[in-house]
Amino acid sequence: RSKDEGGGEHFVYEPSLHALAEERRQLELSLRDALNNDEFLLHYQPVVDANDHTIVSFEALVRWQSKDHGFVSPAKFIPLAEDTRLIVPIGKWVLRQACMEARKWPEHVKINVNVSPEQLLEPDFTNEVVEALAASGLRPERLEIEVTESIFLRDASIARAALEQVMALGCGVALDDFGTGYSSLGYLRKLRFSTIKVDKTFVQGAAVRNAESLAIVRAVVAMAQSLDMTTTAEGVETEEEAQLIRQLGCDKIQGFYFGRPMTGEDALKLFVQSMRRSA
Ligand code: C2E
Ligand code: MG
Ligand code: MG
Ligand code: MG
Repeated sequence: RSKDEGGGEHFVYEPSLHALAEERRQLELSLRDALNNDEFLLHYQPVVDANDHTIVSFEALVRWQSKDHGFVSPAKFIPLAEDTRLIVPIGKWVLRQACMEARKWPEHVKINVNVSPEQLLEPDFTNEVVEALAASGLRPERLEIEVTESIFLRDASIARAALEQVMALGCGVALDDFGTGYSSLGYLRKLRFSTIKVDKTFVQGAAVRNAESLAIVRAVVAMAQSLDMTTTAEGVETEEEAQLIRQLGCDKIQGFYFGRPMTGEDALKLFVQSMRRSA
């Protein structure tokens, strides 16, 4: 109960806030046990070459099937995992699992793994990458770490040092959701990203029929090219979007049009099928 019970509106407002806090507390309790209970799994979404549409990579996307709450969206539990630092052990599991899965794919296919700022600030992060690569036998060049601009908000120099170490191993680093955060161009000078991922809000639906959005994507592509970085357009859902994106010069495309996130088993089947076709 709030100490301030003066305003009538509090009676409408307070219970829902309380319910939200309670829901969050319950989620957090379950999240603490989720790793031990084997409740996480990874889905993999194809990233294709914008020109010939062959699969060049998969992005690993974590899924939580909670015995208490059912399926919980990453949009909900990743922020909670970050606040509670549970993302550190969860992220470590994701990294290992993703590298093991990628080892089953053709040599030219990469794996993209999302990493939160909290993970990068752990002194152990580079070691975890080394261990995930060693345990799976995956070549470092096949792993691309995805970070968002939020890594530059606090302790930027620590995060940068960690990413530079990972790059020194031979791994790539992608800048995810570009255009939605602070998008200070200074970041691009500080780290030699392998890829800039153009956020879906510039790509989807109305955006591709909007001259301003197109101009921004064109500019990001030009900038990336002159910095020797590749570009991936996220969230491509239609053929029209795919065509426009290719015309704008994006190197790679990811989105429901080319494939939804799928199980490891289904990802593997795609290769087996195409090998059969070419045999
Ligand atoms: P993200 O890294 O930007 O991943 C792309 C998200 O866009 C995924 O959502 C994917 O399912 C969705 N997406 C892909 N194509 C399309 C499309 O054509 N249309 C639409 N509307 N959406 C599309 P998802 O899987 O729900 O993940 C949401 C976010 O959660 C991710 O955004 C990432 O920031 C975070 N996340 C997911 N897995 C991990 C993880 O293992 N570790 C960390 N730290 N974060 C993760
Ligand atoms: Mg990502
Ligand atoms: Mg993204
Ligand atoms: Mg995101």
